[in-house]
Amino acid sequence: MPPSSTKLDPHEPVPFWRTAGHRYYRLGLYFRQVFGQPTWKITVDAGFDCPNRDGTVGTGGCRFCNPASFSPNRRHPLGGIADQIAHGAARLGHRHGTQRFLAYFQPGTNTYAPVSELRARYEEALACPGVVGLIVGTRPDCIADDALDLLADLARSTWVSLELGIQTIHDRSLDWLQRGHLHEASVDAVTRAKQRGLAVGAHLILGLPDETRGDMLATADEMTRLKIESVKLHNLYVVGDTPLARDHAAGRLALPSREQYIDCVVGFLERLRPECVVHRLAGDAPPEYLIEPQWCGRKTELRAAIEAELERRDTFQGRFAE
Ligand code: SF4
Repeated sequence: MPPSSTKLDPHEPVPFWRTAGHRYYRLGLYFRQVFGQPTWKITVDAGFDCPNRDGTVGTGGCRFCNPASFSPNRRHPLGGIADQIAHGAARLGHRHGTQRFLAYFQPGTNTYAPVSELRARYEEALACPGVVGLIVGTRPDCIADDALDLLADLARSTWVSLELGIQTIHDRSLDWLQRGHLHEASVDAVTRAKQRGLAVGAHLILGLPDETRGDMLATADEMTRLKIESVKLHNLYVVGDTPLARDHAAGRLALPSREQYIDCVVGFLERLRPECVVHRLAGDAPPEYLIEPQWCGRKTELRAAIEAELERRDTFQGRFAE
């Protein structure tokens, strides 16, 4: 069984990805290390609702959220879990020749149901041909102990990662984002997950309006302190039919430039511990949903520009991690 946590040797003076010529710990390297071959995520929409939409926490959702922009399965009629995975496996297998997949429960709040229901949905995904693990995305304030126990139980026989929408450590930004939780909820969720030996990933947003570069680097420091296993970095971007889109239309929103974002990502990576796997360097959305900034829609170019800036500065992930 592949372990869910990363496999860097803490006594190794230079991480293997640096000796292999990389400047950050890329997801593809990690998957090859753990699974021995390229492995791809298949997004699974299990139809979970969200407490920030159904009135339990809030009704309007997060300021940036349009669920349809996250998942093709919310834009088209929803098939069952097995159907979604079979469809994704056929598409990825055809495009990349790969036979190994992770079921990525991404849209909605994927721990927002009784634990018996969670178990049934996760196990349905794990039973699909080629599926070698599970990623469960959820809110930090919506992960009860019994759900963590279930994930820990599954992690005894397969690869499991819990992905938390931490977004930022700054409460004023969480409030602006209409998240409905504070950073202390994230610390609590990470702590309880780690007590059970679970690998934790963090979804984070850089470029929030009231955050300075120093604020964003403080978020990186906190991810290092919490020993988060992986991060997904997103620039703040605007998709249609969201409160953020209305802010943008009213001229109330200042987004960072591409150059500012690249600078923040490089600074962020420098503060992130070298064992932390980087799943993403920026966000994007389907063209029909993305309003601004258009530069994040050209993700290959953006990633190349971030890597070029790491090179130009001759710097790397973890350089200033404490
Ligand atoms: S981003 Fe997640 S937590 Fe926020 S409204 Fe959308 S589904 Fe709910």
